[in-house]
Amino acid sequence: MLVSIDDERLIAGFTTKFGGVSSKEYESLNLATHVGDDPKKVSKNREILTSKISAKKLIFMEQIHSDLVYVVDDFNQKLPPCDGVITDIKGLALCVMVADCSPVLIYDKAQDKIAAIHAGRAGIVQKIISKSIEKMNSNPKNLSVIIGPNISKNCYEVKNLDLGEFNKFIKDSKFDMNLAIKYELEELGVDNYKFLNICSHCDDRFYSYRKSKVTGRFAGFIMLKG
Ligand SMILES: [Zn+2]
Repeated sequence: MLVSIDDERLIAGFTTKFGGVSSKEYESLNLATHVGDDPKKVSKNREILTSKISAKKLIFMEQIHSDLVYVVDDFNQKLPPCDGVITDIKGLALCVMVADCSPVLIYDKAQDKIAAIHAGRAGIVQKIISKSIEKMNSNPKNLSVIIGPNISKNCYEVKNLDLGEFNKFIKDSKFDMNLAIKYELEELGVDNYKFLNICSHCDDRFYSYRKSKVTGRFAGFIMLKG
């Protein structure tokens, strides 16, 4: 686990492949049920994460590369498929699963509110980060944003794709996802952001869909303590 924030109010970070019970392509801490792994092992892996961060509950999204963002205000709420989730409930860990897409974690220190966002190419083009921040009703100056391991521009070839206003972040057929996210955050007025700058495709601690089609998913997690 890479822990980016762990203080009295908040824990936020990213899992790696290590420390779980899945085998073969999914070895070992695969947190996704939709990738062909044994569901019992995924449940066990999710239990391991729950206990490591002392969460009351983990929330996973059914991610669909959309711009849909929901607020969770009840512990037992069921989420429709979406790619962004917001809460102010303590002990509820918001999780985003990735293997090359960008896991984006947001903390609003003024409202004590958090968000987890799945921002791949499609999500970025649909402005899911802006839409999430808008839904949080946050003053951008109060936000801390962490962008976890994702595929770097050197490894992210996009041939003949039209990304609209984000085309300017394609150079030599390679899309610079982090630069696109940085641009969006700065446009919004967010200046407290941190990129881990770890390439999921190059770094063997992480799952990479581009590297191995059949693979697991690691997660970004964020939780208010208490
Ligand atoms: Zn790479």
